[in-house]
Amino acid sequence: MQPTYFDHAATSPMRAVAIEAYVKHADKLNPGAAYAAGRRARSVLDDAREQIAALLGADPIEVIFTASGTEADNLAIQGLFSAASSSRVVTSPLEHPAVAETVRALEAEVDYLGVDRSGHVVDFSALDTPAAVVTCMMANNETGAIQPIEEIAARAAATKSPMHVDAVQAVGKLEIDFHALGITTLAASAHKFGGPRGTGFLLARRSPAPSAILHGGGQERGIRPGTVDVAAAAATAAALQEAYDEREAEHTRVQRLRDRLESEICRQVDDVVINSREPVLPSHLHVSFPGADGDSLIMLLDSLGISASTGSACHSGVSRRSETLEAMGLTLDEGIGSLRLSLGPTTTEEDVSAFSAEIADVVQRARLAGQR
Ligand code: PLP
Repeated sequence: MQPTYFDHAATSPMRAVAIEAYVKHADKLNPGAAYAAGRRARSVLDDAREQIAALLGADPIEVIFTASGTEADNLAIQGLFSAASSSRVVTSPLEHPAVAETVRALEAEVDYLGVDRSGHVVDFSALDTPAAVVTCMMANNETGAIQPIEEIAARAAATKSPMHVDAVQAVGKLEIDFHALGITTLAASAHKFGGPRGTGFLLARRSPAPSAILHGGGQERGIRPGTVDVAAAAATAAALQEAYDEREAEHTRVQRLRDRLESEICRQVDDVVINSREPVLPSHLHVSFPGADGDSLIMLLDSLGISASTGSACHSGVSRRSETLEAMGLTLDEGIGSLRLSLGPTTTEEDVSAFSAEIADVVQRARLAGQR
């Protein structure tokens, strides 16, 4: 049985170009060393930095390699907060835990942007008062909802509030111009666009720069000290280049597959709520099957060789909606019986057919499980 993978938003298989770059440079030594081997490693790292900067409208010096998207979010939010004199933070209730938990861990006065049932920020009034940090995602990891980031950035700039953008789901899929956005920092994660896992980067303007949260040898402008993994940086740049080279064609192809999935689900299953609403990434389809048990949906699909994820989590035996779904106003039933299908470069028509052949039966059984 050929596995059917609908979890690209969690992690996407490494692209062949990234594996090639990784293998080619796996022998590189310390890019900070002054001798010849160090200079060779440094030159590969510089090329990766320049390539990433050019693709995202940043200067090479603004690219800070990190160990993950989570680390990039932490370095930016904690670092900007510690550099500021105020203790007010503005964020959205839709954020990934990498941002939401980081904000929670600050001793900050937190104000939230208002969101609607489609999972988009619609109330900007919290931005009218200056903040130490404004932090908002570019696209949501669960629904794929694309946020009005230009407007949020402009409103933050009007009060001279530094702004961080978690663009982990958007990089490689949306056109991004870091300078044109006028934001302070932006976080990305390589494994979401076909680069290696355990690698990310932060784009960070020269000023205001985040204060150091990690302390060490001063690498990466002192914002992320530690010897950089040159092979991972080269693989990240190669993956990002290919993602942007293919972007328009992939956007159309993946959107068509997503739309087919959506219409198959709506045709075969009664009482379906589509939670991914425009403007939305073409790769995401978030659906609720009220009355169904989320864990059963995942397990039943898994037994058929189909990988997807749910919007509910089980804490101490009690099923809960994710915070994002709660903020959007989904009922408990809608949140618990939900499924996130996320598509990517390896998704095919056959994957959609394999899923469509099983979904009616899977939902029926997950609804029976939900009655227990
Ligand atoms: N931010 C968003 C929106 C994400 O979707 C993720 C991962 O799912 C992260 C941050 C964390 O990225 P990483 O897995 O590289 O730590």
